[in-house]
Amino acid sequence: MKKFDAVVIGAGMSGIACALRLQSFGLNVALIEKHRVLGGLNSFFQRVKKSPDGKRQGIRHFDVGLHALTNFAKKGSRKKPLMKILRQLRIPYDSLLLKEQNYSLIHLDNKKLKFNNNIDTFISEVETYFPDQLDGFKKLIEVVESSTLDTSDNEYISSRKKIKEFISDEILQEMIFLPVFYYGSSWEDDIDFKQFCIMFQALYLEGFSRPYGGIRTLFNILKEKMQALNIVRMMGVAVQKIEQKLDHHILELSNGEVISSKKVFSSIGYPETQRVLGQKVNKEAVGKLGFVEVQIFYNELLEKKLPTICFYNKTKKFIYRNPDSLIDRDSAIICSPEGYDDFEGKEGVLRVTFLANYKLWKELDSKEYTEKKEYVERVAKELIEEIYPAHLRTESFIDTFTPLTVEKYTSHINGAIYGATKKFLNGDMGVKDLFLIGTDQGYLGITGSILSGISMANMYGFPTRHQP
Ligand SMILES: Cc1cc2nc3c(=O)[nH]c(=O)nc-3n(C[C@H](O)[C@H](O)[C@H](O)COP(=O)(O)OP(=O)(O)OC[C@H]3O[C@@H](n4cnc5c(N)ncnc54)[C@H](O)[C@@H]3O)c2cc1C
Repeated sequence: MKKFDAVVIGAGMSGIACALRLQSFGLNVALIEKHRVLGGLNSFFQRVKKSPDGKRQGIRHFDVGLHALTNFAKKGSRKKPLMKILRQLRIPYDSLLLKEQNYSLIHLDNKKLKFNNNIDTFISEVETYFPDQLDGFKKLIEVVESSTLDTSDNEYISSRKKIKEFISDEILQEMIFLPVFYYGSSWEDDIDFKQFCIMFQALYLEGFSRPYGGIRTLFNILKEKMQALNIVRMMGVAVQKIEQKLDHHILELSNGEVISSKKVFSSIGYPETQRVLGQKVNKEAVGKLGFVEVQIFYNELLEKKLPTICFYNKTKKFIYRNPDSLIDRDSAIICSPEGYDDFEGKEGVLRVTFLANYKLWKELDSKEYTEKKEYVERVAKELIEEIYPAHLRTESFIDTFTPLTVEKYTSHINGAIYGATKKFLNGDMGVKDLFLIGTDQGYLGITGSILSGISMANMYGFPTRHQP
């Protein structure tokens, strides 16, 4: 039986970062991934690009996850999550080739607020459109800036209640929540205030950027690091069962192998980890929020200065729930990958993301599934026409994923991108020497999940060698 000091389950962002950090402590580490490609929720793929008459025209690249890398930090800045990640993984800042966002937009009913990587822009928007809320908004910023994360504190505090201490205008409350929920809440219509502070910091105080070349730029760096450190990678292999022994774990793998490890770091999610441990799954905590995304390619690059991300809600009240229909047509994220300092592609791209109901998608047969995807694509195009009406664009290709796609490629129950509604900030779900990392540890997004992998490795990995 192969024996390891630590096994990391899942080669998404958190798993890769965790394995790199553990190996750098001199431990003997295995990284086990069910799929043949790295990246989990944030991967990429490519397809042959064809002309309308079927002639090959090169390759088209797709980013699965990346809309925006949150937590932007300028070169040389200190104490920012992005800088911590780069320092701990020994990645030079310049190698990420970061391009800053143009600006992003919160569009609720007929109101619009801009924000960018300088919080003063958001403050001045609040001053212009909600002057009587300015003092409260500044106070909220102070509270977020001074908040420190106590990882042993798992008490849930409703942000909807808490925000009333600072902002009395309900429209402004909704507008602040719109990006925060969309980019990081696993709770319906609310978010734990600790998570709110993390997201507020990541989105509004630090902001968005994009590596030139998309997420593959970051992956290529991480892959090289893994190769240099000789991390044992088992790709296309799932962990099917974990059995806890006195001072180690026995893991049964889908290729028939059985291995032993002193410590286990799991990035697959809380209920999903319960499943492989043979525990009763905490159904209450299973995440319900799924998404559909339509990526539309155009023959020509888009007009300059579209918002990088537009967070859209049709009405005054933002409903962030598992919808009763296949998708929620009343709100969406519209992402323009060209909305950065510089763009490497030759085609225009817009991505439209809707809340989606996993169960309703699951009930469809394959013909209905295709038809409903086409329906969602029409809805996405109509929304683009409505929001960015003045421009002529010729569509060249369209690709759509549903909660079933997310489930297939990540094994998250219900295709829930933001995982469970119970988070374990200290990684400890009550099983000796087994730790949660990534989404259900509670740090979300690309930067968050990498930070999660690093912090959990630092907290629990430092170094105890396996005693055979
Ligand atoms: C469409 C979309 C857009 C997004 N946009 C952004 C964005 O713009 N900015 C941002 O910061 N974040 C974004 N995110 C979120 C971000 O991608 C995730 O928060 C992050 O990638 C989560 O990483 P993780 O390591 O925690 O989990 P995951 O990526 O889910 O990794 C878990 C891995 O475990 C593997 N696995 C599961 N079960 C097993 C098993 N039994 N054995 C072995 N392996 C297993 C899975 O295959 C997967 O690779 C987006 C996500 C999606 C889906």
